[in-house]
Amino acid sequence: MWNISTEKNLCGFRGWASDFIMGAIGVSMLCLGIESTAHTVGVGIVDEKCRVLANESSTFSPIKGGIHPREAANHHAENIVPLIRSAFLKAGTDPRDLDAVAFSMGPGLGPCLRTGATAARALALAVDKPLVGVNHCVAHLEIGLVKTGCRNPVLLYVSGGNTQVIAFAEGRYRVFGETLDIGVGNLLDKFARGVGLGFPGGPLVERLAGESSNLVALPYSVKGMDVAFSGMLTAALELHKDGKSLQDLCNSIQETAFAMLTEVSERAMAHLDRDEILLGGGVACNRRLKSMVEMMAADRGARIFVPEAALCVDNGAMIAWTGLLMHRSGSHLDIRDSVINQRFRTDQVDVTWIRAGAQ
Ligand code: AMP
Ligand code: MG
Repeated sequence: MWNISTEKNLCGFRGWASDFIMGAIGVSMLCLGIESTAHTVGVGIVDEKCRVLANESSTFSPIKGGIHPREAANHHAENIVPLIRSAFLKAGTDPRDLDAVAFSMGPGLGPCLRTGATAARALALAVDKPLVGVNHCVAHLEIGLVKTGCRNPVLLYVSGGNTQVIAFAEGRYRVFGETLDIGVGNLLDKFARGVGLGFPGGPLVERLAGESSNLVALPYSVKGMDVAFSGMLTAALELHKDGKSLQDLCNSIQETAFAMLTEVSERAMAHLDRDEILLGGGVACNRRLKSMVEMMAADRGARIFVPEAALCVDNGAMIAWTGLLMHRSGSHLDIRDSVINQRFRTDQVDVTWIRAGAQ
């Protein structure tokens, strides 16, 4: 996957563009981040002010069925070197200008994580730069903090594989609520696949939901600050088989699932006495979810913050930014300790860095 000629090619790119851009913006620190937890492989380069100099990605879309970890990992292995190369070109910089190389250490699919970690290790070794292992969920939060300017929010992290309500409390990012089974994105993707809509399901469900205002009763499953979606998925697929309108079902899935998420977010905000809610993850692109959370926030006198779509979905820039924060605080990995962790919990992360805007 990585070889000397690749490294030479990358190192060979030190042109006038690089010198001009670096001089003009006065960059003092650069970090490259590799994201590869699931369907998306991404490479981002950011500087110390979190200017995103490059954010390249490629997403694996299965022709049939769900995401097979090995097939997704093969896709990532094929795309990672071209993405790294194109990230350096976009950023107008050179591997030797990097201060650190970061990668998603988990949570995620083993083969996918290992592919990203291998590329990161190879690059870090080739240019003799420190290696930083980043928790993917924490990276969603850190990029949201720096890009939206919120200070001490509750994060509603809604993606394909993950659904968590996270906040910083007593020195750590802690999970106050989460899905007990599948992620909300997974619910949308599995429903869409089950009814023959294609992948990714979220945007397709959103479009069809916009064509209906009818509500079909679906299981609403909230336990404290936790949620569960698989009962809703089974019920919606059964109702589709029974001939219920697809538009009505899409609308009902959105209304029910997003009401559950809004409810648990509000509970966490009340519990922690927070007046900011930050959205992250691919499902945060959904307009209906945003408007429901916005209404809840307005009722509480709170504010909602949503990063741009390219930084909501899985991306390399958020790994690069969190990696840069960790690098600045001296949080590096020895190659022998850089083993991925499929079940890396948000609350296992030792927050050694100063968070953007932290009070
Ligand atoms: P991520 O895992 O964070 O990269 O996000 C991918 C997930 O976001 C997939 O499950 C998509 O179906 C979902 N998604 C993307 N756009 C939307 C949207 N507009 N509405 C709902 N879900 C979405
Ligand atoms: Mg994610």
